[in-house]
Amino acid sequence: MSQDKIDIKDVTPKTFNPKTHKTQGDRFNPSNRIYVRESKGTYQLLRRYGGWFLLLLFALIPWIPFGERQAILLDIGNQQFNFFGTTLYPQDLTLLATLLVIAAFGLFFITTFLGRVWCGYLCPQTVWTFIYIWFEEKLEGNANKRRKQDSGKLTRSLVLRKSLKHLAWFAIALATGFTFTGYFVPIRELVVEFFTFESSFWPVFWVMFFAICTYGNAGWMRSIMCIHMCPYARFQSAMFDKDTFIVGYDSKRGEARGPRSRKADHKALGLGDCIDCNLCVQVCPTGIDIRDGLQYECINCGACIDACDQTMDKMGYEKGLISYTTEHRLSGKSTKVMRPKLLGYGAVLLLITGLFFIQIASVDPAGMNVLRDRSQLYRENSSGEIENTYTLKIINKTQQTQQYQLSVTGLEDVSWYGKNTVTVAPGEVLTLPMSLGMQADNLSSPVSTIQFILSDSEQFTLSVESRFIKKL
Ligand code: SF4
Ligand code: SF4
Repeated sequence: MSQDKIDIKDVTPKTFNPKTHKTQGDRFNPSNRIYVRESKGTYQLLRRYGGWFLLLLFALIPWIPFGERQAILLDIGNQQFNFFGTTLYPQDLTLLATLLVIAAFGLFFITTFLGRVWCGYLCPQTVWTFIYIWFEEKLEGNANKRRKQDSGKLTRSLVLRKSLKHLAWFAIALATGFTFTGYFVPIRELVVEFFTFESSFWPVFWVMFFAICTYGNAGWMRSIMCIHMCPYARFQSAMFDKDTFIVGYDSKRGEARGPRSRKADHKALGLGDCIDCNLCVQVCPTGIDIRDGLQYECINCGACIDACDQTMDKMGYEKGLISYTTEHRLSGKSTKVMRPKLLGYGAVLLLITGLFFIQIASVDPAGMNVLRDRSQLYRENSSGEIENTYTLKIINKTQQTQQYQLSVTGLEDVSWYGKNTVTVAPGEVLTLPMSLGMQADNLSSPVSTIQFILSDSEQFTLSVESRFIKKL
């Protein structure tokens, strides 16, 4: 081969159709496995460093203390969700629902603007898959070597390297399982109890469950998850328009594709800028050929852009044959970034985010539920009063022990039977049975509306409505 030519090897799997550049048949079949070639370049660096940063954040957050507790702890068992000193209870679920709506609209906004950038750079499936591929590459060699090894004989060295790879994969999976479970149970206790065999069944179950999911998804399933299982991949096209940034191949510039010498005047040969080196396909984690146009399998990772830019560099052509672009730009029209759909998603996102902060600011430091005794509407006590029985449930949502005063309004000369001052520990739900008594003559109607008042030493007051029923 002349020195002027780029060495192009046919490394496509046997099931690969060179005409369509697509793997034929069942993707779940191991013989159709995608051997992803490592790619280097600006977008890969961005993804690598971005991925490491997010991983670090994910791994460190459960270890950050705040006061006497974990800064973020979604304690489902005790129905308490702690976020840096603010504790939310099932009563505050609207806040969590608002958070989910914010996440959904954030995703709509970013997808309309930048396509599947979430999938390519931020989705845990992608981040973990690229880490697993990195280990595969380091222990078993590059994609070509791996493909050759896997179709050849199993040697002792290969068994050793494969075992090391699976060991590394499982160690990462186990660390992921611990970290993820550590968002739901205190992580320090979880680790200590796990390694001293003192842990109860469920924390161990969830650590192993998430570890096995990570190992299976990032090690074996990879793009199958993105293509066949992820619901987001299915509905994201509804958010796309012709001004959405996608990874696109400039076919006007690239076609007709074909190999040529570096020094050749390819225009005179009737060729476009694509030298058909196939690198863009080899680096693609989902195994597609972006030259076939926008495909739902594309996760916008930019690996093919970096690979193609390197080829363009070597050939002395302008970079950007594959680039982040829009359908409008590819068809020679201008891209309209500010458009009604994007502005609409942005406005709703801002509105709901504002609402969320208002909700956060108005979260009460305490909560109270009043339950009337339904088995007995009223009774007459030894003092001749009409007595109604209630159960008060008082929740201390702060991080300190609190003393609360309790009273009732809406009735004159009412007798309070039971404690009217209570001390409640942080996060505790105190159940207080009590009753109210009234002389029947002082009650003007059979049913009176009353307000139970809870107040603390810091001027916080909470009022909960209930009823007082007298003999008809
Ligand atoms: S086509 Fe390019 S951007 Fe899309 S998934 Fe494959 S490598 Fe990533
Ligand atoms: S688009 Fe670029 S990377 Fe892909 S085959 Fe053509 S020259 Fe090679």
